[in-house]
Amino acid sequence: NIAVRKPLLGSALSGFLGQNRKILIDGKWVQAQNGQTFEVEDPATQEIIAHVPLGDKADIDLAVAAARRAFDSGPWSRMSPGERSRIVWKLGDLLEKYADEFAELEALDNGKPVTNARKGDVQGSIEMFRYMAGWATRLNGETIQVSSPGNWHAYTLREPVGVVGQIIPWNFPLMMAAWKLAPALASGCTIVLKPAEQTPLSALRFGELIQEAGIPDGVVNIVTGFGETAGAALAAHPDVDKVAFTGSTEVGKIIVRAAAGNLKRVSLELGGKSPAIVFPDADLDLAIAGTADAIFYNQGQCCTAGSRLFAHKSVYDKVVAGVAAAAGKLKIGHGLDPTVNLGPLVSKEQHDRVKGFLDSGRKEGAEVVTGGKIAGNQGYFVEPTVLAKTNRDMRVVREEIFGPVVCVQSFDDDSLEAVAKFANDTEYGLQASVWTRNLKTAHMMARKIKAGTICINTHNYGDPAWPFGGYKQSGWGREMGKEVMEHYTETKSVAARL
Ligand code: NAD
Repeated sequence: NIAVRKPLLGSALSGFLGQNRKILIDGKWVQAQNGQTFEVEDPATQEIIAHVPLGDKADIDLAVAAARRAFDSGPWSRMSPGERSRIVWKLGDLLEKYADEFAELEALDNGKPVTNARKGDVQGSIEMFRYMAGWATRLNGETIQVSSPGNWHAYTLREPVGVVGQIIPWNFPLMMAAWKLAPALASGCTIVLKPAEQTPLSALRFGELIQEAGIPDGVVNIVTGFGETAGAALAAHPDVDKVAFTGSTEVGKIIVRAAAGNLKRVSLELGGKSPAIVFPDADLDLAIAGTADAIFYNQGQCCTAGSRLFAHKSVYDKVVAGVAAAAGKLKIGHGLDPTVNLGPLVSKEQHDRVKGFLDSGRKEGAEVVTGGKIAGNQGYFVEPTVLAKTNRDMRVVREEIFGPVVCVQSFDDDSLEAVAKFANDTEYGLQASVWTRNLKTAHMMARKIKAGTICINTHNYGDPAWPFGGYKQSGWGREMGKEVMEHYTETKSVAARL
């Protein structure tokens, strides 16, 4: 039985939800041009908690024009890097000031446990702004030693790429906005951000912090709306210089095609089917707790979720029983309850999708060790599920489920080459975790696995300084670290005959 209690909202949040929400264009909060709105739902209770503007191409056009004016007139792109750094840092401070409010907003809009939202989403966003603030003053070119005959002074300049379109998903609404906005702002770009239609609220609240921090009008524009209309218009817009996207691989391919019109720069963070591999010499307590968290954190709605669990034959039974026991200990309920560990999935669509995968797993012969059903009679809850005796041909093993469902397979081959082959048997390559006490095993596996991020004795790791992104169909480019600055700057080469 799930206790979905009516949330106790902080007064600041009640005030925010009580007013009609608007979108942010050129420093002003406005309605969508068509005057329409859409409903935002609490996925735990299915209650409507807000109405937000149904932005579409007309609003994207206005937002891009504002971002273009702001970029070309230079109040941000030509601001002294030190001053820009101070303001980006201030965004982190403001987020910290309102941290509890943002955590509640994420719990209410996305469904995630408020404790995780505060420690993960909000804290991670604060740290992202502080880390990226440092890059504003470190974007240097180089002097180049050319080999042409004669006397030359050759050098490079790093310039902001221009107007950036950013399209983000619903699984970490605030943090995905922070991952996108912080480096773009630090490098001097101007932005049109389109949040996911399932979870638009924290981005709109963050728009108020953009203004409180003193960022000039038009530098950050936020347009809520659907992917096929607002998102598509942004990806295709001829006056957008770069698009940064996080979401499904399917939509990632649509973005690439849309971006081809003006060959705008594209970076993509897409899906995953990440392996977690437990070797016989692993610290099993650590590995069991860690691989359970790898799949159940955020209701399994992480692009890095450890959804394919490989356990060596000699520890397989213990790992399966251990992860199932960890699933049994999770308290399911409304995300605003601070004792809850597993909230609802984000939407009816995701609920239906995950239910479809559970049916498919059963049909294809997976053993349901625990869970396997939707939970509760309201909201989009799913039981944390362990499917054992799975194999590479099952749909549940091949496709991204994006729910709290782990597929376990055993291996008995001791060659690292063979184990890496299992891990790499996927079209994705976002993350992998290796659980072992043997240094050689850990670091050899790190080299053999085709994934952008490798975790040793941990999973779902992230840090603003740690480049993050995917191999294969998990995406293009890296976010965070110094790598992300490449995406938001152009290198200009200058040669002077002396
Ligand atoms: P999605 O890819 O459809 O949506 C992500 C963002 O893209 C949203 O802002 C959406 O409005 C926008 N979008 C959708 N269609 C668009 C289009 N044609 N042009 C431009 N923008 C568009 O993701 P979803 O439908 O919400 O989820 C489906 C699956 O995507 C999930 O089950 C999961 O597998 C995956 N997903 C991955 C991540 C991730 O972090 N990598 C996040 C969310 C979802």
